Amino acid sequence: MMNTTTTTTPEVSSPFFSYICDKYFYSSEWFTFTICTYITFQTVFWLYNIFLFYIGYNDISYFEKYRIQKHKPKLRFQPEIIHQMKNGIIKHQLSLIVSLPLLYYLLNYFGHVSVRTSIPSLFTILWQMIIFILSEDFLFFWTHYFFHTRWLYKHIHKKHHIFKQPTGVVFIIADPWELLLQNQLAVWIAPIFLKEKHLFTICLWIFIRVYQTINAHSGYDLPYISAQYYLPWLMSGTLQHDYHHQHAKMNYGSFLTLWDRFMSTHRLQKDD
Ligand SMILES: [Zn+2]
Ligand SMILES: [Zn+2]
Repeated sequence: MMNTTTTTTPEVSSPFFSYICDKYFYSSEWFTFTICTYITFQTVFWLYNIFLFYIGYNDISYFEKYRIQKHKPKLRFQPEIIHQMKNGIIKHQLSLIVSLPLLYYLLNYFGHVSVRTSIPSLFTILWQMIIFILSEDFLFFWTHYFFHTRWLYKHIHKKHHIFKQPTGVVFIIADPWELLLQNQLAVWIAPIFLKEKHLFTICLWIFIRVYQTINAHSGYDLPYISAQYYLPWLMSGTLQHDYHHQHAKMNYGSFLTLWDRFMSTHRLQKDD
């Protein structure tokens, strides 16, 4: 619910989000939540994608050795591709303006989002992230798996697969039904049903998920900057999802390789 209490002089010693809530956001928890989640998404989305666009468009030679589909010429930034990306970005930006203010009410429906309290302990943040990742990966895998059945692929999922060489922004280019079921539902189901969650944890979750999906679509297997680099057996990522776009099959998971291993759908480029 929107907080209508007015506090004119925020205490500097109060928790960070409580402080900014009073100082900048008219003491409205809903407004603080909306702006913080919006800034989190935009920061990771634009920083990572501008970096990918910069190295791709300017053919920065240092990164060529990390490009996954080196055997193919770059297709990424032809005018037609740029047009698709621009359209996708505009639609997605508009959907954010509508969905993020509503997300606050959705997260408060079965539980409660704390805005004014202190940031939770590292332990709490950690176990909540593990639950978010496990449930997201489970739902993402199975919805994605079914989106590859003949009828659903032809009518819904094919739109996401027009990019055989993906790049960061491709993750938002998809049919609205796919964005809703495979992406949004999978991301938010656990946070919605979790009884007590904090705005910081929600922002961190947005950061991790958006970073993970841009990285998976980046087209570059860059060292150090992904969980896959450190835990290649367990974590899915760029190598798997790039293969998925190239062949339009296999590697249906998002964070983990577990469901793909279980269903024998795990493949890497070198297995060709
Ligand atoms: Zn994809
Ligand atoms: Zn797919």
